[in-house]
Amino acid sequence: MEGTVTSIRSVLCEVDAQGRTYVCQARRRLVASDTGESKPLAVGDRVAFSATSAAQGVIERMLPRRTKLSRRSPRDVRTEHVIVANVDHLLIVSSMRKPPLSLGIIDRYIIAGHAGGLEPLVCINKVDLAEDPSECSEAARIYQDMGYTVFLTSAQEQKGLEPLKEALRGKSTVLAGHSGVGKSSLLNAIQPGLRLRTGPVSTKGRHVTNWVSLLRLDAGGYVVDTPGIREFTLWDIQKTDVAQFFPQIWDLSPHCRMPNCLHTHEPDCAVKRAAEAGELPLARYESYLRIVETIEEQRVPRATDVETPETQVHRQSRAPSRRKARQDLRRRAREELGPQEPEEAESA
Ligand code: GDP
Ligand code: ZN
Repeated sequence: MEGTVTSIRSVLCEVDAQGRTYVCQARRRLVASDTGESKPLAVGDRVAFSATSAAQGVIERMLPRRTKLSRRSPRDVRTEHVIVANVDHLLIVSSMRKPPLSLGIIDRYIIAGHAGGLEPLVCINKVDLAEDPSECSEAARIYQDMGYTVFLTSAQEQKGLEPLKEALRGKSTVLAGHSGVGKSSLLNAIQPGLRLRTGPVSTKGRHVTNWVSLLRLDAGGYVVDTPGIREFTLWDIQKTDVAQFFPQIWDLSPHCRMPNCLHTHEPDCAVKRAAEAGELPLARYESYLRIVETIEEQRVPRATDVETPETQVHRQSRAPSRRKARQDLRRRAREELGPQEPEEAESA
């Protein structure tokens, strides 16, 4: 049978198939196989499994992924952690205040979304806490000008929820963002009882693991909350990939003297010049710089990489041109995700 992994708790997965839920264990070889990922399966994965009873089964293999949201494993920098597979949208939730609006995290998730084939959507919550409404529309305009849909919401005052509900309907969406921005509150406002947890969860000072799980919306579609993701580091993104996600920076790049200018320390850089002259908003430039700085100079070898003298040389000499950066990123994502599967009603 084929089904969708809806939650994972240690070695057991819940798999939805044909309207039933099966508690499944993965075959030993699936667990043991070195995929270079922190876990052999992610929520949202489509799997082939054998039912051993009306409510139990054994997962035989994973089917090809359509999309994935990945981060660098916090435990091992060489390991990819796939947070969720096969979802359509990445809803990046930030709050206007408490915690303060972080453009940096929005920018980082936008890159991760594109890299994994998800469509990024931006939600700025807690608009009720803004000192004046223009503050919200200015923040929204940054991302609207880049072509993204932006939702301005207040989960508390039930404002701006209709357009968001509409966007979630019939699609699968993963919510991401700092803890405390209101992800659970938004989900509860959209569908009461969907996820009951709000506010910090802890026992004896320890953060209680809230597993990622796929939740079905009454209006159609699925949502995935990511309560356990507190730290998000990009996976397999190179410094030269970053500028394409900052259109103002990308457009200035051809005017830089150095052909592979990263706009950090290079001489005669058009981007730095524009930032100094106030033609490029400083906040955009700083967000760009912060992301570039957090990316290792060279790609961190993966657990599955076999390091040979050739690959070492190749890695060191690799300096993709800025013009080709976007194509390269897309190609890498395609190669990794394998052949695209036709969309299925059941797939999440
Ligand atoms: P999560 O960690 O992203 O899931 O955030 P929660 O949904 O747990 O919300 C964190 C805190 O912010 C809770 O105390 C909520 O009551 C509060 N909160 C959520 N949405 C809003 C909002 O729109 N306005 C205000 N003022 N507070 C909110
Ligand atoms: Zn430059």
